[in-house]
Amino acid sequence: MSPVKSFVVRFVTLGAVCTALAVDVAGAPQAPPSQAAPPAPPPSVVGYTDTPRHPDGKWRVHDSTRPVTRVVAPGTASTPERAGQPPADAIVLIGDGADLSKWRMKSGGAPTWKMENGVLESGKEYLQTRDEFSDFQLHVEFATPKVVKGDGQGRGNSGVFLLGRFEVQVLDSFQSRTYPDGQAAAMYGQFPPLVNASRAPGEWQAYDIVFTAPRFTDGKLAKPAVVTVFHNGVVVHNATAYLGPTAHKLVGEYTPQSAKGPIELQDHGNPVHFRNIWIRPLSGYDQ
Ligand code: MG
Repeated sequence: MSPVKSFVVRFVTLGAVCTALAVDVAGAPQAPPSQAAPPAPPPSVVGYTDTPRHPDGKWRVHDSTRPVTRVVAPGTASTPERAGQPPADAIVLIGDGADLSKWRMKSGGAPTWKMENGVLESGKEYLQTRDEFSDFQLHVEFATPKVVKGDGQGRGNSGVFLLGRFEVQVLDSFQSRTYPDGQAAAMYGQFPPLVNASRAPGEWQAYDIVFTAPRFTDGKLAKPAVVTVFHNGVVVHNATAYLGPTAHKLVGEYTPQSAKGPIELQDHGNPVHFRNIWIRPLSGYDQ
């Protein structure tokens, strides 16, 4: 191709891309607050059958035969006064009301923690979900005691234990110091949060956690557990691998039993409040 022809082809291609972008920006309708399945599009917009395949060979670039993505109506954000709505496909673990039917005590008995008007108060012994999970998105809201008592690890201490083994620390770390890998939002005993995004005692705070369970092959660790955590919307762990299950003054060792488990809330002797806890088990693309 001559340099002039090549330039024309490139210019025309670029023009088409720019036109497509302009249509997307100017012509796209505003997303509705909740989604219904879209109407069937004309065949010309659903993709291609002559494009290169991805390295794993499964799908082509812009593959027209790739499954239509499942629709999930998103939730709403919480305010200090009111918990938000979870996404439509979430399993609600703590909602409004007093329902603790998804929970039991770690020792197996019925829940003894107090639950009222959608607010749970930590009590004696760990509380755990009846169901077990592996890979998931988890939303947890908590508030440490408004009246501050104690310091360091004794100030609003609880914890979210993923699979009952990997703790994301709950603590009052607002203008309060402790060892960095034990402060609020720490992967306890392993990594401090990237930043301290704590709100004041008594204020509602949120963790949004994306967790991938460890994988084992022939009883040996193949991939460690990995977690991404947002604390009050601020990223504090970015796809960080746990060194092992959480332990105090130790580094825990992975065992094949740590591939799945319940969500647990820790009793550390401080009355911490929780609300609006939901979980979405995760699977792969095209499911
Ligand atoms: Mg704790």
